[in-house]
Amino acid sequence: MRVIIILLLSVIVMTMLFSQAHAAGSEVSLYDLLCEYKDNPIGIDVGRPRLSWKIRAEHLSMTQSAYQIRAAGSEADLQSGHNLIWDTGRVDSDQSIHIPYAGPDLTSGLRVFWQVRIWDERGRTSPWSDPSHWEMGLLAAKDWKARWIEPDMEEDKDRPNPCPLLRRVFKLDKAIERARVYVTAHGLYELYINGRRVGEQLFTPGWTAYDHRLQVQSYDITEHLSAGKNAVGAILGDGWYRGYLGWKNGRNTYGEHVALLAQIEVVYTDGTREIIGTDKNWKAATGPLLASDIYQGETYDARLEKEAWALADYDDMGWNAVRCVEYGFDRLVAPAGPPVKKIEEIRPVKIWETPEGLTVVDMGQNMVGWCRIRVQGPAGTRVTLRHAEVLDKEGNFYTENLRAARQEDVYILKGEGVETYEPRFTFHGFRYVAVDGWPGPLALEDITGVVVHSDIEPAGSFECSNPMINQLQHNIRWGQKGNFLDVPTDCPQRDERMGWTGDAQAFARTACFIADCAGFYTKWLADLAADQKPSGAVPHVIPGVANRRDPVEWAASAGWADAATVVPWTVYLCYGDIRILEKQYGSMKAWVDYMARKAGSSCFWHQDFTFGDWLAYNTTSSDYPGATTDKDLITQAYFARSTDLLIRAARVLGKSEDVDEYTALLEKIRRVFQEEFVTPNGRLASNTQTAYSLALAFDLLPEPQRARAAERLALDVRNFKHITTGFLGTPLICHALSDFGYWEEAFMLLNRKEYPSWLYPVTKGATTIWERWDGIKPDGSFQDKGMNSFNHYAYGAIGEWLYRKVAGIEIDPQEPGYHHILIQPHPGGGLTHVKARLESPYGLVACEWRVTDNTMTVVTQIPPNTSATVTLPWARLEETTVGGKALEDVKSVQVSRRDPEALVLRVGSGEYRFAYTIYGN
Ligand code: BGC
Repeated sequence: MRVIIILLLSVIVMTMLFSQAHAAGSEVSLYDLLCEYKDNPIGIDVGRPRLSWKIRAEHLSMTQSAYQIRAAGSEADLQSGHNLIWDTGRVDSDQSIHIPYAGPDLTSGLRVFWQVRIWDERGRTSPWSDPSHWEMGLLAAKDWKARWIEPDMEEDKDRPNPCPLLRRVFKLDKAIERARVYVTAHGLYELYINGRRVGEQLFTPGWTAYDHRLQVQSYDITEHLSAGKNAVGAILGDGWYRGYLGWKNGRNTYGEHVALLAQIEVVYTDGTREIIGTDKNWKAATGPLLASDIYQGETYDARLEKEAWALADYDDMGWNAVRCVEYGFDRLVAPAGPPVKKIEEIRPVKIWETPEGLTVVDMGQNMVGWCRIRVQGPAGTRVTLRHAEVLDKEGNFYTENLRAARQEDVYILKGEGVETYEPRFTFHGFRYVAVDGWPGPLALEDITGVVVHSDIEPAGSFECSNPMINQLQHNIRWGQKGNFLDVPTDCPQRDERMGWTGDAQAFARTACFIADCAGFYTKWLADLAADQKPSGAVPHVIPGVANRRDPVEWAASAGWADAATVVPWTVYLCYGDIRILEKQYGSMKAWVDYMARKAGSSCFWHQDFTFGDWLAYNTTSSDYPGATTDKDLITQAYFARSTDLLIRAARVLGKSEDVDEYTALLEKIRRVFQEEFVTPNGRLASNTQTAYSLALAFDLLPEPQRARAAERLALDVRNFKHITTGFLGTPLICHALSDFGYWEEAFMLLNRKEYPSWLYPVTKGATTIWERWDGIKPDGSFQDKGMNSFNHYAYGAIGEWLYRKVAGIEIDPQEPGYHHILIQPHPGGGLTHVKARLESPYGLVACEWRVTDNTMTVVTQIPPNTSATVTLPWARLEETTVGGKALEDVKSVQVSRRDPEALVLRVGSGEYRFAYTIYGN
């Protein structure tokens, strides 16, 4: 009996132990399952989509030792493990991002459900993740049964026309299982089914290199439809396709007619299918939108509304016909980036009358989007909203810097109770709104600012003990919000708003700290490659608008065209994305080959035209030593930079022949750079901050010139006591200084409040980054109205230096995507506290430091399945604690180096709180 009881007891204990061991495994769980950077995407066209997940773990130093992914055609099959279409089995690997789907070929419209489980470093299994899915779009031209249609109506191609409405009624005979619609347009579209708006995406189909790539959106419309009579309708706007675009009042850049292509696919519960596409059965009319243009704004006459026009019972007797046109299906692609959406709303802070007598509303923030108004008054009342970024020094509404962009919305009331209106196919860059014609007194509640941009997921934050630097970071963030509207634009307000390549490359790294930009840049880089010239030259703006109108090769400027190499490399580093290098490799190489061809056997390229260090500091002072950097020097520096990045990409992709070939080229380029521009003592032909920054940051100098050049850079900064760089030097200068030990000079530039500096605009009340160091001069007057944007992100490139060097969150290029993280905080500049956080592909990376008297604390967060090297400046092992314990006693932290200036540690995932007395200070 006793034996039996003992046996029974031990069975119970064993069972408890076993289930505990199992439970220990389940402290690891999986979240944020993504497919091609998207959460449950519908309508993708990547044949081998990549899957990623993040890991939650309660223990330190967690790593994934294996994973298993399984996929099925339905959620039930997935959960039960039956009829799987793909099962990796257990794969020994620590890879948890970008695992390519390797099951059977994916067909149009196919939805795949998937989930994953992992094993940790001790072999314990996580539970299966919650199921996720992705769905393929229409993959081939032959999938399209719909035809392109255009409204058959008289239009004047020289000015904005009323926006056409298109509609059609159709009958569905049976009960509906599921339904999708695939849509695109020439121009912009908004789609309605049975009167209800489909999706919340704006500015669809987006702006791409339209000659080669036109995006198709896919929507689940199962809930919109029912058996019986249904109606589908669309409104079309001019958009980038045929509205004003580029300067010189150019119109019809891509074509003279707006057009729609839409295909509804219904699957009935009995398994049969039906397709309703755009065809000659559609009808067209105009409605209340009398004009709509990206630069000029919208005019909406509510008296012309056609109520219920997108419902089945609407009488469309008087409507016009449409014509079917052959635009083909070969250019159609799925969007790789996030859609544009309404992201947030802003309440205005003040309404007052300006000295010139205008009623003006202050939104309190320079923003991009539009105003939603709530208004009541007699029919025919005409309310006009004009938008401006700044007030002049007398306090008047200032619009001259908008050049030919009118940024004006007009709403004509229908006179029926409270009316609300907001535009749809235009956007404005503004902080102030001049309101004219408002019936009765205007109240703050009548106006709402609607902030519109690409729906990039916020990723990082930076705050510190200096409120002005916090405001600078705020301005950088808002610079990005205002200029990430499907394309990385230079500015959002004047008659430009184009994908200027130089601005984009200067800001890309900062952008990736503020938000997850992987998908956004993947899309734009595809456009870059598509619009790249057959010669390999990269247009100044992407999409390549200017080239389309002007056959001159408007391309290939140093520091601009190099977006072709800099941006893919940045995406690779920040997201560990090898495929972006594979996809862009041809484009990167074509650009480098172009330069090599131009340079010829001398390996020196003198360009006839290049922008140079755009908007660098300048003055009329008689003894001004000059801060203009020789354009040939810049060209040679970027020739080297792009070649260097191409070599790195070739190395990642295992293209060893290219590595050898371009390494030889790079050596030559560097040698020529040194012969042309460097004296034996390390002085550069242009004795400017930009020249030294380029030479140091792009590694163009041999030792010992490097240290000497850095010394000269620091000297120049001390002599001027301020920054003198333009678009190309600005992103590099603080790195060049701090990398060579000139932290004081770098912090001096950062902290300076007088013109020229990053904080000068802050003292002038800026809420975004300005295009010019002195957009508003110290005396309150403006810079040249022809080139004076108050929302231009390029100078905001200082943002990354604060994250990487001051907070100290850095990528190890050997393990990109933050798989191995370098944590290297650096106090200075009078800062006592800095806190930076970044949602990396593996999860949250954070570093916060605080200096009180002589004590430094560093709190860092390292996500599961990654590791970090932590460099604690001026720390000594014996005096450092982690989590309150002597560091020497803590096993999870390994000491890898002890320098006089720093203690270098190696840690796995988890949170670590280090404290020490600063040594030698
Ligand atoms: C844009 C810039 C651009 C520049 C070319 C300007 O009009 O706004 O940001 O890079 O032209 O140098």
